[in-house]
Amino acid sequence: MSSYGFATKAIHAGQEPDSATGAIIIPIYATSTFVQERPGVHKGYEYSRSGNPTRSALESCIAQLEEGVAGFAFASGLAAESVIIDTLPKGSHIIATDDLYGGTFRLFDKVKRELQDLEITYVDMTDESAVVRAIRSNTRLIWVETPTNPLLKIIDLEKIAAIATEHRLISVCDNTFASTYLQRPLTLGFDLVVHSATKYLNGHSDIVAGLIVARQDDAVTQRIRFLQNAIGSVLSPFDSFLLLRGLKTLTVRMEAHCANALAIALHLEAHSKVRQVLYPGLPASPYHGVATRQMKGYGGMVSFYLHGGAEETQRFLREIRLFALAESLGGVESLIEVPALMTHASIPAEIREQLGISDTLIRLSVGIEELDDLLHDLDQALAKLN
Ligand SMILES: *Cc1c(COP(=O)(O)O)cnc(C)c1O
Repeated sequence: MSSYGFATKAIHAGQEPDSATGAIIIPIYATSTFVQERPGVHKGYEYSRSGNPTRSALESCIAQLEEGVAGFAFASGLAAESVIIDTLPKGSHIIATDDLYGGTFRLFDKVKRELQDLEITYVDMTDESAVVRAIRSNTRLIWVETPTNPLLKIIDLEKIAAIATEHRLISVCDNTFASTYLQRPLTLGFDLVVHSATKYLNGHSDIVAGLIVARQDDAVTQRIRFLQNAIGSVLSPFDSFLLLRGLKTLTVRMEAHCANALAIALHLEAHSKVRQVLYPGLPASPYHGVATRQMKGYGGMVSFYLHGGAEETQRFLREIRLFALAESLGGVESLIEVPALMTHASIPAEIREQLGISDTLIRLSVGIEELDDLLHDLDQALAKLN
């Protein structure tokens, strides 16, 4: 399978026809336990928390897509993230991207800091020297998210991986925003990739799921394998099935997301009511160069500031029709939100202000609807502003 291209692997990897029936699609193995021939003699499965054939197919598929050696499926992105942090000894220090997904920040700051005596330094990783300066004697791990959320900064993965290797730190990339199609951090030297598969990988806004893929089968990977079963926050067979189905169309969906998002970013950039557009695909973006180098496309997320204050922003949101006002991202349907009031409300106001996540920042998850319909919707809402 490894000699095939991405689109082929997304459809076939880990998915042999069912040996009992020839079914071309991996069945939903809705079973908690598996009958054994004699004690300890079985067909590779004993109990569905430790292993389930539908989940195994998904784990094999994502491992091959990310070009790693092992995949692990969890009940949510945060469940997957939690297990990665659980591999660290008590009192570890980690260096994390400052412009981090709100739920990740909450997990680190409100849970792990207390329970595991975790120390965290948040760094603007577009400046790699700041990462090096943050390293301490107890630093164990570097946690990167790129593109960042919601400011869509791009972090140079190759440079961060080199720093991690030199200082013997575990490197983790949250690859949710780019998706496996646009960016493969393990091939750039990262140890682990983590996903909220709730977003682009599933792509249809109908499940919550998390994935981890490891580059090598080392002690950390073995610990993740152990913890997945020992903690038990695994993905169900039904959700594994839906995620496998979602992955089959990842290639065409991402191409469509990228094309729509770029067209919308260019359109907004030229609009008189828009103050600034944040999108790495814009030639004027300070991150255009590094994005072009490490990504296959610029993604489906676009953030922008309107002229005027919070009132104008609220008015715009009231007028928009086709974009649904909702948290989350990565589905086929377009969404709109205000990070400061919604997805990033759990981040303290002064930190949000420092980062530039103001009440007037709007984030779009551009779907794959007809481009003209999306442009028309934005235009009619913008036309109602002063
Ligand atoms: C949504 C999200 C998560 C959390 O994933 P869940 O599936 O909601 O638990 C983590 N990181 C990023 C970048 C996300 O967008």
